[in-house]
Amino acid sequence: MGSTCGICASAINDATHEQLNDSLQCGECVTNPPLYTKLVAATRYQFPVDKALSDLKFNKQLHYARSLTSVLERRIRLSYEETPYPKALIPIPLHPKRLNERGFNQSDIIAKHLSNAMGIPPNKALSRVKDTPHQVGLSEKQRRQNLKDAFQLEEGLPKHIALVDDVVTTGSTVNEAAKLCLSAGVERVDIWCLAKT
Ligand SMILES: [Zn+2]
Repeated sequence: MGSTCGICASAINDATHEQLNDSLQCGECVTNPPLYTKLVAATRYQFPVDKALSDLKFNKQLHYARSLTSVLERRIRLSYEETPYPKALIPIPLHPKRLNERGFNQSDIIAKHLSNAMGIPPNKALSRVKDTPHQVGLSEKQRRQNLKDAFQLEEGLPKHIALVDDVVTTGSTVNEAAKLCLSAGVERVDIWCLAKT
């Protein structure tokens, strides 16, 4: 994947990063660190993965979830050599209306594959109570505004969890979900996704 940020996994070039405690960090994570501790992505969001992920979501090509999740699993195992794994996998939920339209939540499927492969239980404590419009083309501020109070959480999560999503772009969605988990007593939130822009 070339040089990537040790926190958010974005591609970084020499002009925008700082070397902190042996870990490479992008300018954005240095000046405005995300609420999650670490993001692990199977791959970049680029051809042909972008096409595969769109087919997964909109043409029900669910086999892509399995093959990309096994790439993600290998990356996760490499990045947790000195850190214990999270104790629960929490898929980023769809609003019930969207779930009804699509018939499945791709994040549920990814979390299920990961759970089977790694023995970490999936957890459905997080739900989406606000049907947010598509975030494409919106500014970071508009995204955050849309996502305000979008999620709801049941109690009883373990102290260390991973949020699971298919694609992470700006990170505003996973950050909003992480904020809610942290406010409910979770101490560490990691993000596991198939692709990061
Ligand atoms: Zn970063």
